[in-house]
Amino acid sequence: MKHTKIHHIYEKVAHGVTISRSESKTLYKQAPLSTLMFLAHQRRKAQTNPDYVGWIVDRNVNITNGCFSQCTFCNFCVKPGDQNEYITTMDQYREKITKLFSLGGNQLLLQGGMHPKLGLSFYTKLFSDLKAEFPELKLHALGPAEIQFMAQKAKLSNRKVLEELTSAGMDSLPGAGAEILVDRVRNIISPRKCNSQQWLDVMLEAHQMGLVTSATMMFGHVETLEERIEHLFRLREVQSQKPDDAPGFVTFIPWPFMSEGTQLLQQQPNIKPVMSAEYIKMLALSRIILDNISNLQASLLTVGKDIAQTCLFAGANDLGSIMIEENVVSSAGVRRTIEKNTLTDTIEKAGFKPRLRNQAYEFVD
Ligand code: SF4
Repeated sequence: MKHTKIHHIYEKVAHGVTISRSESKTLYKQAPLSTLMFLAHQRRKAQTNPDYVGWIVDRNVNITNGCFSQCTFCNFCVKPGDQNEYITTMDQYREKITKLFSLGGNQLLLQGGMHPKLGLSFYTKLFSDLKAEFPELKLHALGPAEIQFMAQKAKLSNRKVLEELTSAGMDSLPGAGAEILVDRVRNIISPRKCNSQQWLDVMLEAHQMGLVTSATMMFGHVETLEERIEHLFRLREVQSQKPDDAPGFVTFIPWPFMSEGTQLLQQQPNIKPVMSAEYIKMLALSRIILDNISNLQASLLTVGKDIAQTCLFAGANDLGSIMIEENVVSSAGVRRTIEKNTLTDTIEKAGFKPRLRNQAYEFVD
């Protein structure tokens, strides 16, 4: 049989050899879906326990919906000062945290918007108040865009802002706001947010400090395949620079752009939804490229149960959270929450053992 370029790439992947950007593109374009899934699943089995699939109970709470950034893909935020603006109150946190604890979770995923009136001192007070009242609570909070925004506003370094926030009670830093880490794309969909290098610089600093972080990608809007691949390679590069004993990016979570009702769809009506096969292919390619990030999460919330199960044979080893609240996604036309039993059944019916984990991806059951 003739040994073609694509077979050479298959062999490299099968032997755990890192592939280049152009080989990644060839793989994505030429490999049948089943082959890509097989290769990614082999990588997943080599990197993680092949029998286990992780999940977590946590709660997404938005600190405020007022955001100066006005990203065109976001249906959730309002302009600061808008009559519908809110800032979550301590009583509301209490109620949400009590519900979270009653469901067996202990982590809040605290997200933006970026409100011009809320600076570093607001967040340090919020985190220390929450920790004073709920010492066992874990705060997976903010993201590189918020850190960079606060640092710029207070004329401080990213390091100083991260130190202040962790002293106040922040436990880990989500990889929110990555979208696609290529400035051509960011200038279209989120021109007021930090640029790609600023996002990566915050993560480099967080890794130097030993903070647990995650990496994400929102795809299926104005980006090209080459730009998706560039995004993955930039994450890989940052991960390769973390200290050996630092956790760095503990996971990668890609999700498809949900376009319904967004300004971005109005501006770019040719955007087509990401179909299941494309999502699974991207997930598999992510597992192959990101060979220095152990965990890969399929977004059950956005792709649904059946596709999520298929993803467990395409490189994914985690199905995320029962997610009690998800405002940015639900505001864009997706209203999925999932019960604990549904999530664990989904994992078991795919032939794996569900393992409850914490944000650092340590099993806790
Ligand atoms: S995605 Fe985040 S940063 Fe962008 S407008 Fe929405 S809340 Fe603000």
